Amino acid sequence: AVLIIACPCAMGLATPTAILVGTGRGAQLGLLIKGPEILESTKKVDTIVLDKTGTVTTGVMSVSEVVTAEGLDESTVISYAAAVEAGSEHPIAKAIVNHAGEHPAATDFQSQAGLGVTGTVDGHRVAVGRRRAGRMDVSRKAVSSAGDANLGTLTDAFTSAEESGGTPIVVRIDDDIAGVITVRDTIKDTSAAAIAQLQELGLTPYLLTGDNEGAARAVAREVGIDPANVFAGVMPDEKVSKVIELQEAGKTVAMVGDGVNDAAALAQADLGLAMGAGTDVAIEASDITLMNSDLRSAASAIRLSRKTFSTIKGNLFWAFAYNVILIPVAAAGFLNPLFAGLAMAFSSVFVVGNSLRLRAFQAE
Ligand code: AMP
Repeated sequence: AVLIIACPCAMGLATPTAILVGTGRGAQLGLLIKGPEILESTKKVDTIVLDKTGTVTTGVMSVSEVVTAEGLDESTVISYAAAVEAGSEHPIAKAIVNHAGEHPAATDFQSQAGLGVTGTVDGHRVAVGRRRAGRMDVSRKAVSSAGDANLGTLTDAFTSAEESGGTPIVVRIDDDIAGVITVRDTIKDTSAAAIAQLQELGLTPYLLTGDNEGAARAVAREVGIDPANVFAGVMPDEKVSKVIELQEAGKTVAMVGDGVNDAAALAQADLGLAMGAGTDVAIEASDITLMNSDLRSAASAIRLSRKTFSTIKGNLFWAFAYNVILIPVAAAGFLNPLFAGLAMAFSSVFVVGNSLRLRAFQAE
């Protein structure tokens, strides 16, 4: 009876059955958890860094306004910009190209991550990108090229775009400011609910973006992220240092992202979650892949992982408890080997049954 009751089969089943059922249920819901060690990380995370574009917002941008320098018409500026942007994969580039329709072709295309693109169109040097990209300073250039009146219009366009949550893009032709194109992104309908769910799970959300402060704060306000927790104007290679900064401040950090730019930060984070519609490198660098582009699935993945982890602990507790209680009973001669066998079988059934409860997990 002692030998039978001491059989550790329920203990052997405790962990793998819970992982099997938990990750299987995750797969059904489109939450792909890469390995068992990840479950433990989900338990500890207290901070979640969200990439803005493509994670909190749809990542599909559109042109909302074009302001040009005196003497230039809108279609010239936008078609020159589109000619250069045609070589870029950036959502901003797609917005400008779609808006332009027909456009000339560019040569000498070059892209600088987090800054913009340059190229030659009809013999003119064209640069399209953010304001402070080396020589792309609106005010300085505009003073020399466009005169005071024009400087005012372009700077106003720039400022009002930023204040209203848009992303102003500067177009320079032959080093003169030719115009400011404002692009806008839309926030996903589900993002605010997702952030509320993440907060309920005890996580403090941070917003991380290469975009300007105004656009970042407008998004943060709308989805319920504290404006103090916004990192704006972050260059692609600095994203990882923001994660390190939070970790050094004693936080355990989860990161949700989708782009090539996010891969290093996803790998550095204690828990990396990649949106499935994102790039392969982001998915490869992450611990959990979310098959849909709904941010609520990040909250579901964390909830399911935590639940799986606590199921493992529950299973181990009961598997041990059976042995701890029944071994002395058997040793004292109070247990018939037949009943010992039954009790052991029951403990295994109990553990498997407890794990199977994870099948009922629902995404909110
Ligand atoms: P990102 O880190 O890719 O979000 O880029 C940060 C900022 O750089 C954007 O908000 C733009 O101002 C600028 N930028 C990056 N790539 C491009 C591009 N292809 N065209 C225009 N601006 C760009």
